[in-house]
Amino acid sequence: MAKLKVLIASSEVVPFAKTGGLADVAGSLPLALEKLGMDVRVIMPKYSSVKVEGNSTVIGKDIKVWFVENDDYFGRHHLYGDKFGDYRDNLERFSFFSREVLERCKRENFAPDILHCNDWQTALVPVYLNTMYKFDLFFKNTKTLYTIHNLAYQGLFEKDEFPKMGLDWALFHIHYFEFYGKVNLMKAGIVYSDAVSTVSPTYAREILTKEFGCGLEGVLRTRENVLHGILNGIDYDVWNPATDKHLFKTYSPDDVEDKYANKEKLQKDLGLKVDRDIPMIGVISRLADQKGFDLVGKIIGDLLNMKVQFVLLGTGDQKYHVLFEKMAQAHSKSTSMNLKFDAVLAQRIYAASDIFLMPSRYEPCGLSQLICFKYGTVPVVRAVGGLKDSVTEYDLKTRQGNGFIFEEYTAHLFFNEIKKALNLYRNRAAWSALIGKIMKLDYSWDASAKEYVALYRKLIAD
Ligand code: ADP
Repeated sequence: MAKLKVLIASSEVVPFAKTGGLADVAGSLPLALEKLGMDVRVIMPKYSSVKVEGNSTVIGKDIKVWFVENDDYFGRHHLYGDKFGDYRDNLERFSFFSREVLERCKRENFAPDILHCNDWQTALVPVYLNTMYKFDLFFKNTKTLYTIHNLAYQGLFEKDEFPKMGLDWALFHIHYFEFYGKVNLMKAGIVYSDAVSTVSPTYAREILTKEFGCGLEGVLRTRENVLHGILNGIDYDVWNPATDKHLFKTYSPDDVEDKYANKEKLQKDLGLKVDRDIPMIGVISRLADQKGFDLVGKIIGDLLNMKVQFVLLGTGDQKYHVLFEKMAQAHSKSTSMNLKFDAVLAQRIYAASDIFLMPSRYEPCGLSQLICFKYGTVPVVRAVGGLKDSVTEYDLKTRQGNGFIFEEYTAHLFFNEIKKALNLYRNRAAWSALIGKIMKLDYSWDASAKEYVALYRKLIAD
């Protein structure tokens, strides 16, 4: 079979720029695709965080990463906005980037078979391809896949900004861009792509409903026949306690004892009591309503009255910064609140924690629970999206299951699951068996990348 030419367009890519899971996916899926014999390129904006000379580099064996340079638009410290809110010129920035995706293909003489776009920032690529570039023979064999990593961030702009995209006003229409009087980039991306995917099978079903559809459920239903759900994987070259250079001691499923050496070291570093018997509960997350922090807020007082340590790493909504700062003052001995983004500390917390909380309201895929498995950290999660597709309730009798999971979004059910996990923690033999088991689960990209390849091939055949 001919080598498929794939271009992945993303506004963030690990290791160059990251605010969330999209960057992890855009950085690791290409590596897995290359291993499966695809001819892959990646394209992203060159922010000031990208410490690379020139306008391209190579990752994996021979994957070119193209950087789009424009200092006015991208030479900034943040990706999408600062403490004052979203950057006011985001529509210009990302329509420029989307045009450049297509122009760069031409300059590099790379006509992709598949143009794989992600989230609102690259939603305009399929739109431009089907409008301005409709009769451009260079792209005559190019098919587009549009992946939704989080439906809640749609790229909404005021109507009077519409001309900035350089498109015909006729497209400001309910069937294309128009969304309650505003311009909605994600909506147009969904409409104009050859296929749409999202990052877990459950989320692919959920977004067709009013509860999870964020107002786009109607549009998504019109594309249901080309809507797919493919669970993300994680890159075990990055996320692997057996090789992780940031850990105090590496460990593997057969020597989980060394996990506790990491725990004791982190306890010391964070000024907590050094005692491996005290369960350490970790949270690493954007501090956003999506992630269920109102539930955490409701139970944290009771939780901290138990003999536990609570270690948080996250930044986001100011109200949660205030909440956790207050908690840190009231429980200084048993909490460590790290209100920042810190990739190294994250790896140490995954390794040191015993239990990890993800009570999300919705969760397209969620990567943290998959990372937790690999690091032998037991997740307590809500049964939504990708969490539901990866976590199953542990049963002490049968020893089946890999974590703790609750359905209805209530503090009571959440706390119940945490208590179950804490009880099990006291049963040393069962706990060790559970963490040895979850560390061996395979959520690498191998399986998921094969599903993407099958979808790419289907698109080309259609
Ligand atoms: P989302 O993309 O919705 O933020 P995911 O679970 O898909 O959530 O991915 C989150 C990723 O970002 C994980 O790799 C997690 O470890 C990382 N992360 C989140 N917050 C922080 C932080 N404050 N510091 C370091 N890493 C973080």
